Amino acid sequence: MLCRLLILAILAFMINLSISFAQVDSSSETEIDFGFQPGQSTRMLAAMKARSLAQQVEKEKLLLPETKSEIDKYDVTYYDIIWRPDFSDSTIYGEVTIHAISNEPDLDRVLVFLHENMIVDTAYNASGELLATHQSGLLFVDLDRVYQEGERFDFTIVYEGHPPPYELFFDGLMFTAHNGVPIVENLSEPYSARQWWPCKDVPWDKADSSDVRIIVDTGMVGTSNGLLISDIDHGDGTHTMHWRSRYPITTYLICLAVTNYVSYTDYYHYSPTDSMPIVNYVFPEWEDDPNLAMDVTPLAISVFADLFCEYPFIDEKYGHSMCNVHGMEHQTNTFLNHFYLCDEPTIVHELAHHWWGNLVTCQTWEHIWLNEGFGTYCEALFYEAINGPQYLHAYMKEIRYLDGGTVYVYDISAPMTIFSIRSYWKGAWVIHMLRGVVGDSIFFSAMQEYATAYAYSNATSDDFQQIMEDVSEQDLDYFFQEWLHGEYYPNYRYSYFIEDNLSGGSDIYLHVRQIHTTDPQVFSMPIKTHLKTDDGEVITSIFNDQREQNYILNTEYRVNSLALDPDSWILRYLLWEEYDLHIVKDELASPHQAEWYSDSIICKGGSGDYDYELLSGKMPEGWILEAATGNISGYSTEDGAFTFTIKASDALYPLYYSDTITYAVTMGLPSPRPGDANADQEVNVGDAVYTINYIFSGGPPPPILNWADVNGDCAINVGDAVYLINYVFKGGPAPQMGCVE
Ligand SMILES: [Zn+2]
Repeated sequence: MLCRLLILAILAFMINLSISFAQVDSSSETEIDFGFQPGQSTRMLAAMKARSLAQQVEKEKLLLPETKSEIDKYDVTYYDIIWRPDFSDSTIYGEVTIHAISNEPDLDRVLVFLHENMIVDTAYNASGELLATHQSGLLFVDLDRVYQEGERFDFTIVYEGHPPPYELFFDGLMFTAHNGVPIVENLSEPYSARQWWPCKDVPWDKADSSDVRIIVDTGMVGTSNGLLISDIDHGDGTHTMHWRSRYPITTYLICLAVTNYVSYTDYYHYSPTDSMPIVNYVFPEWEDDPNLAMDVTPLAISVFADLFCEYPFIDEKYGHSMCNVHGMEHQTNTFLNHFYLCDEPTIVHELAHHWWGNLVTCQTWEHIWLNEGFGTYCEALFYEAINGPQYLHAYMKEIRYLDGGTVYVYDISAPMTIFSIRSYWKGAWVIHMLRGVVGDSIFFSAMQEYATAYAYSNATSDDFQQIMEDVSEQDLDYFFQEWLHGEYYPNYRYSYFIEDNLSGGSDIYLHVRQIHTTDPQVFSMPIKTHLKTDDGEVITSIFNDQREQNYILNTEYRVNSLALDPDSWILRYLLWEEYDLHIVKDELASPHQAEWYSDSIICKGGSGDYDYELLSGKMPEGWILEAATGNISGYSTEDGAFTFTIKASDALYPLYYSDTITYAVTMGLPSPRPGDANADQEVNVGDAVYTINYIFSGGPPPPILNWADVNGDCAINVGDAVYLINYVFKGGPAPQMGCVE
């Protein structure tokens, strides 16, 4: 019999185990062919942005407290830029006018970042030449006079130089060639705008607008941000292309790309009568390449406009400039690497940055996930929008990040740490999980609210959390702490036991364990719980926040089976396991002193027969645990708090199945029963005898002292005994509640 049971148990275990694997990888049941490998483009983007070691030096200067306080003495309002790249010797000639407002009284000198490779020819404003002191990448400009807080000023820097040599891939401004034709292109994020132009090179100070004039040879085309408002031929073999943007822009998004582009224009129709141009600049030799995926852009813009808000730069344009090296979301003019990044997921990703990164920009690089995590999640949102929810889950599955490290970047000393794949993939998972926690309707409302609240400005992780909490009316601190500042992910095991209940439905006993050994040791997460019925499934949720946790779900319909998080809304490992034996009653009923008590421990699983024993601790005096039933009962006059541990063992297989639980109970105050001096639940002559025995013969005190003070004189003495006898035998006045303390 025993053998047969064991074999059955093993068989059941094996069958269920195979089901459990199906649940773990449920999204793989429908094999989805995206036509590309999701996540590969972000891996490439991250690798390229993370490549520079040279930028580390620049950053260290930025983070010096004196540098930061110096650079924040003014707010930039406008950049007016003239650039003339010289391909013959890879030199950039520039003239940059900065309009700004003083942030403090008595400002007479300002700091601008500019790499030492750049040589300052002169600095001036309307009053004449200004003294410019350029050393170690820091350019100090003495203003023409003292400016007070709130006062506006401007100055112009004329400079030239060879950008510092780039490493591995690309850094700052790079002169290369394609098909024998020269090209110059930039990548400024995070610390490299200063490598080729003088600016307040921090993400948190956006200029309100910008003008960029690019002087190039005839036959060459220079692209930048905003609208091309003029293209003037100078008649000397050069022409000036003038780009203007009247939207706020941060320095790392201001761009320059020059080569022999050909262009074609597509349109995003945002109303029946209005459209916005999408201008694509491509290398002539790539113009007809069928692999270029730019045609997806209008559809992608409308997807994100529907999800979040209208394309944020609608009065100007969107566009792409094909480049040699990388993909980058330069505002209204995304750069795409022609080798492998003119692909759909990259185009969608860089476009999404125009909401998350360009409209709302991370305040500092510690919060880069607000750019890259969001941009990456938008790839999945795009495929969900056009193909359905199974594409969302399939996409997310491909970009699971299961390694250590925090999403919040504590060390921003190098691009490598800022632009690790964690910022992209796990950052995307943080948003995805948040959506799972608060639900679609709240999530997308909150995203719209976030876009509105921080439009054309900057935000921190705390700002985003605050919006999510305000809109959801939930305290989400646990979530942001564990997923932004904690590492790794939970590893769940779950098991369940279902039985019929009296209402024709099911009582489901669910047990969830977290078995990971990484920190945080305990993840707090709501877990979607799918209850399979004859008619389909009902989706509910449990909140899991302990290493081991029991749940009892009572339904009015019959439930056949259960699956936790089958769609993978959580970054986790998860497996079903056999439900062995669990004490499912987590708390005992509250007892009261001098009142009959009875409650039962409830056990599920195993063979169904259990033995109970008090393992440790102390129950109230007078209570008894019945070994065969788990019933705890008794009558106790003991006061205080009690903690005791009970073990339940399977009656048939005690060595295989057992569980322990520690209960804590506190004796509540008794109900008033004046006159019951001996607390035997009756008021009679025995109470008078008990009282006399206590007063005169050193007998035990009344268990509930004030019950014996029947005449209410705040003392227990012979008068109380006389009072009781008078009541019991002669119909005297009834006992009253005493006041003995
Ligand atoms: Zn990105």
